[in-house]
Amino acid sequence: MNDIATPTAPRVGFISLGCPKALVDSERILTQLRVEGYALSPSYDDADVVVVNTCGFIDSAVEESLDAIGEAMAENGKVIVTGCLGKRADVIREAHPGVLSISGPQDYASVMDAVHAALPPRHDPFIDLMPAPRLGAEDYADGVKLTPKHYAYLKISEGCNHRCSFCIIPSMRGDLVSRPVDEVLREAERLVRGGVRELLVVSQDTSAYGVDLRYAEREWRGKAYQTRMKALCEGLSELDAWVRLHYVYPYPHVDGIIELMTARRADGQPRLLPYLDIPFQHASPRILKLMKRPGAVERTLERVQSWRAACPELTVRSTFIVGFPGETEAEFESLLDFLDEAQLDRVGAFAYSPVQGAAANALPDPVPEEVKQERLARFMERQAEISAARLEAKVGTVQRCIVDAIDGDLAIARSMADAPEIDGLVQVQDGRDAGLRPGEFADIRIMGSDEHDLYGEVEYND
Ligand code: SF4
Repeated sequence: MNDIATPTAPRVGFISLGCPKALVDSERILTQLRVEGYALSPSYDDADVVVVNTCGFIDSAVEESLDAIGEAMAENGKVIVTGCLGKRADVIREAHPGVLSISGPQDYASVMDAVHAALPPRHDPFIDLMPAPRLGAEDYADGVKLTPKHYAYLKISEGCNHRCSFCIIPSMRGDLVSRPVDEVLREAERLVRGGVRELLVVSQDTSAYGVDLRYAEREWRGKAYQTRMKALCEGLSELDAWVRLHYVYPYPHVDGIIELMTARRADGQPRLLPYLDIPFQHASPRILKLMKRPGAVERTLERVQSWRAACPELTVRSTFIVGFPGETEAEFESLLDFLDEAQLDRVGAFAYSPVQGAAANALPDPVPEEVKQERLARFMERQAEISAARLEAKVGTVQRCIVDAIDGDLAIARSMADAPEIDGLVQVQDGRDAGLRPGEFADIRIMGSDEHDLYGEVEYND
């Protein structure tokens, strides 16, 4: 992390844990710190105070967060805690009674108040003619980003109206609160103007975007847009960037989004990346009911198949939980059958682990740990074969890719089918020789594949 203010400025260390939504919170806090003249410290020793942005989603994330707080306490001693685990202040206080302050997710004001109390901002009468401003949401587009320069997460809403029995996010982040569409589009516009080439739309439930605002209509670039997923996607597709959707539920109105994935821009590229990240979580109707998940499986499978028929290049990514309380061997096998039928491109899976405060903890018939692990291994093995076959089918094709990094002779790139961090890579063997640079697009001829990644050579470099 770079130093962002003068050497004499008060210095803040920052640890960011958790999902992309937490990352966006971290970026906003860091931006506010910069506006107020604080410097960032890359080490505990140099920091005057340390902020830890925590995750509290599953028990292992809680442990990781508590460990990070413990390390910061031991190494520095002045620690401000924020983020999802902040909603469970008792857990933090019990493990680390000496922390300076605890606040929940998105509570930027409490974090800044705690920083001010621990470390008053340096007042310089020659430059501080005005008090530092509190930034509005869209000002953050010009702020500190924790992702590489060429991609950015675009958070469109907070919270969630569902009540999945294994999840405590609604109790931590509350019900759905959408950002008005013009605000999101203006932030996206500024990000693209600042060099971002790929926008990753994140929320807890992207399909539900705008329902809390009754799809309020706003204006952007002289045109009316509803605060609704399709209108948002139409607006984003006007920008010169890849737009990738995460956390989409398979509701009927997603069909309209597929149309944007098949439509082309003037340069022949899809208006919206043909990529959907849909957390199915399971395929057994009984388990989905116990999970309190929306959506019936038959229809889901049909829907995925109809999307593929309309948009053959569509990549579907999903996540699943195996070993949910009460899951029988037959129900688990129905999940394997679903994998065979749905032929998903990318899949993440977890063995169920109870989360403190989740309704699912009260369900009977927990699956023994060794059975969970055995099912997880079988699940991953089945999906690995599917993923490998789907990637192998791309050998010989030319894929439009974005370059993330240069590593020796290789360019490390991603195709339209690969979201950063969670999906695979395209290793471009002649990337350096071809003069590729991070953030650039190139057409790559695919020469080989394995379970996760593709290997290729430059066909055409923009
Ligand atoms: S959709 Fe379910 S799992 Fe996702 S945040 Fe909402 S309650 Fe949690």
